Amino acid sequence: MKTNSRYLKWFHRIEKTLWSFFMLFEDLCARCAKRTIEEVENGQRRCRHEWCCCMIDNQVHDNWESLNCVQLRNNPDWYESLRERKGPRMPGNGPCPALGEAGCLLAKHRPVTCTTQLCTKMLRVLNDLKILKCKTESALQIEDLIKLPDILPSLYGTGRTQKVNAEDVDAYIAEVNRLRERLAAIPKEKRKQQIAAIYR
Ligand code: SF4
Ligand code: SF4
Repeated sequence: MKTNSRYLKWFHRIEKTLWSFFMLFEDLCARCAKRTIEEVENGQRRCRHEWCCCMIDNQVHDNWESLNCVQLRNNPDWYESLRERKGPRMPGNGPCPALGEAGCLLAKHRPVTCTTQLCTKMLRVLNDLKILKCKTESALQIEDLIKLPDILPSLYGTGRTQKVNAEDVDAYIAEVNRLRERLAAIPKEKRKQQIAAIYR
């Protein structure tokens, strides 16, 4: 697998744009993590498909080949620097070793799936706020929701090697920002109420 420093810089621009969109979901992930821990501690299994994605899955090992290649460029000791979480084995072989107390410990170039995934709860919030109309039974990638240039596998160095231009990156970011602006236009209190409604 070949990595390209210019492409990885572009990938990081895109992931930062997506993070600024995900931040508009306010305390959703904190609530989700709290609920997951409570249900695991109480031995409940019924809603495990709803549990915190970083606790149930192990994206570090699922994407080891590409992730290791990319992260070695940032820090040769990247894997050793992660604090392994202790806890019971979860449905998707989680918890992910990159999960720290305050979220993901990878400062950049996270796996593509983590970067683009909207979980069922995020999809429900977007539907409830009438930002999107889509199925909410399972998680989707952002390219399933809005039309985006198919450039992330090439930027990350996975899959086919396709030439990517700065214009493709700008077009990707502009599309995500259009969706972000629609969500940001909803007052914060209303967004928070909608999120709280999921956890009633
Ligand atoms: S992205 Fe979704 S599943 Fe993952 S922690 Fe946040 S709310 Fe939970
Ligand atoms: S790499 Fe980070 S974002 Fe992805 S599952 Fe692991 S902790 Fe979560």
